[in-house]
Amino acid sequence: MQTYHGSCHCGAVTFEVDADLSKLGDCNCSICTKKGSVHHRVPGDRFRLLTGADALKAYQFNKKVASHFFCQNCGIHTYSHPRTAPDKFNVNVRCLDDFDLREAAYKMATFDGRNWEAAFEAMQQNRR
Ligand SMILES: [Zn+2]
Repeated sequence: MQTYHGSCHCGAVTFEVDADLSKLGDCNCSICTKKGSVHHRVPGDRFRLLTGADALKAYQFNKKVASHFFCQNCGIHTYSHPRTAPDKFNVNVRCLDDFDLREAAYKMATFDGRNWEAAFEAMQQNRR
């Protein structure tokens, strides 16, 4: 596990995350598709918001379980509390300043967010 540094585009929001980025996630739901984000999920004790709490806004829609945090100044979505695990942090690894998707070796897990209920059920089954 390694500590990575992340930020929004304007630099108001900065954070650190302790993570092993060998497994990333791609979701095809309505918002992840449009954000173009690539996820890595960590528990709360492995995420530290350093600056920008006042710049962040949480966007919610549909069931209003997930919170999609973005910087109100530059519009960049840095992380979310996902609907599949609202107590966790889904970091957008594209916002990590010391991680390069093109250079990294990782497995990409896909989540069929367009069919959320079925995908969540399948995910639960795989964990049993
Ligand atoms: Zn910003």
